[in-house]
Amino acid sequence: MAKIFAVANQKGGVGKTTTTVNLAAGLATQGQRVLLVDLDPQGNATMGAGVDKRALTESVYQVLLGVSTIERVRQRSEAGGFDVLPANRELAGAEVDLVDLEQRETRLKMALKGVDEQYDFVLIDCPPSLSMLTLNGLCSANGVIIPMQCEYYALEGLTDLVNTIKKIHANMNRDLKIIGLLRVMFDPRMTLSQQVSEQLETHFGDKVFKTIIPRNVRLAEAPSYGVPGVNFDKSAKGAQAYIQFAQEMIQRIQTM
Ligand code: ADP
Ligand code: MG
Repeated sequence: MAKIFAVANQKGGVGKTTTTVNLAAGLATQGQRVLLVDLDPQGNATMGAGVDKRALTESVYQVLLGVSTIERVRQRSEAGGFDVLPANRELAGAEVDLVDLEQRETRLKMALKGVDEQYDFVLIDCPPSLSMLTLNGLCSANGVIIPMQCEYYALEGLTDLVNTIKKIHANMNRDLKIIGLLRVMFDPRMTLSQQVSEQLETHFGDKVFKTIIPRNVRLAEAPSYGVPGVNFDKSAKGAQAYIQFAQEMIQRIQTM
């Protein structure tokens, strides 16, 4: 059975999509079977995996509404070596459309049951909000991966997210736990980064991943080529860090 992880942080621009795409590609290099679910109407993970969001006939939107299936909608990321359940702007309508439906927060969870045996990992790229879409991601998951930048304000939003996760754990998904905080876009030359990083380790202990993802321009360039950074420039520091993170995740699931 696949282990399902939501990559979430209600802040935008903190590295969720970069992490989801590169963890997916990194896991694929380690022989893992991966499905990436794009739950953000911006469709950045879809594009970053090399799937054209403008050319979709169906997307995760139809899956959430129950009018299509994952097996029909998923596409192969040749550049990444994993499958993608793609998204585009149409998904923005789901917030409204889901309101009237039954079990609106477990729609994705139900759909994933159908493909559960076909993957080792399912990675869900959540939008930058604590919306119905994110709720679907968190209700489906065994664990949450929280990417964050080591800056002063990073810790502020964390409390809201942690409280939301606690509530979902208590009321909707007993499986859900925080797998870890992932330090991304890390700049070791900045004293503040070092300080916040140490603070995180003190407060969250082994909930902080050992791997640290450095700020690396090759990771930022890769999406415009539709190739995950991990495969875009294998020798780049960012690519190597995500491979290391994939290996850390493979180890983590042994003890879950
Ligand atoms: P989110 O999905 O949380 O909004 P993204 O993954 O889209 O965040 O990242 C925001 C921006 O930062 C993007 O332009 C991305 O290319 C860039 N970025 C993300 N991680 C890194 C990194 N480690 N080094 C350099 N740029 C990065
Ligand atoms: Mg994103």
